[in-house]
Amino acid sequence: MQRLVRTSEEKQTVSTDPLFGSCLCGAVRYEVRKPYLRFAHCYCGRCRKATGASHATNLYVAPAQFSWLSGAELVRRFDLMSAASFGICTCALCGGRVPHSTRNGQEMVIPAGTLDSVPDVMPQLNIFWESRAAWACSGGDLPNYAEYPSNWR
Ligand SMILES: [Zn+2]
Ligand SMILES: [Zn+2]
Repeated sequence: MQRLVRTSEEKQTVSTDPLFGSCLCGAVRYEVRKPYLRFAHCYCGRCRKATGASHATNLYVAPAQFSWLSGAELVRRFDLMSAASFGICTCALCGGRVPHSTRNGQEMVIPAGTLDSVPDVMPQLNIFWESRAAWACSGGDLPNYAEYPSNWR
């Protein structure tokens, strides 16, 4: 029987401040600095549509902790008008997700899959757990919240 052995892909070294990230094509690049506000998996239906996956994984920081390094002019914003606050930003060239500010401008939401650095923190909770797809991945041993935790916003 053949045994699958995971070869060493890219080296996943934990980064200290700052973290760097980029879109799928690499034209949009950014950096994000501590302190981080929250790190969460979101299983809501909107994140499902926006990512094409069972959940989004987002790191939240204050706007002052975030800078575009290149391609800021390529960033396109879409606000879902039927939602109180849902919006996303994408790269005009590749359509890949990039960070966006919340509609009230108080936080930057960093899609963790766009990070090129490995943060030294891990996601802390699962939110909108009650909205998860029947086929969603297991939430692991993180605490599950039906929607937003009461201490958010
Ligand atoms: Zn791109
Ligand atoms: Zn969500």
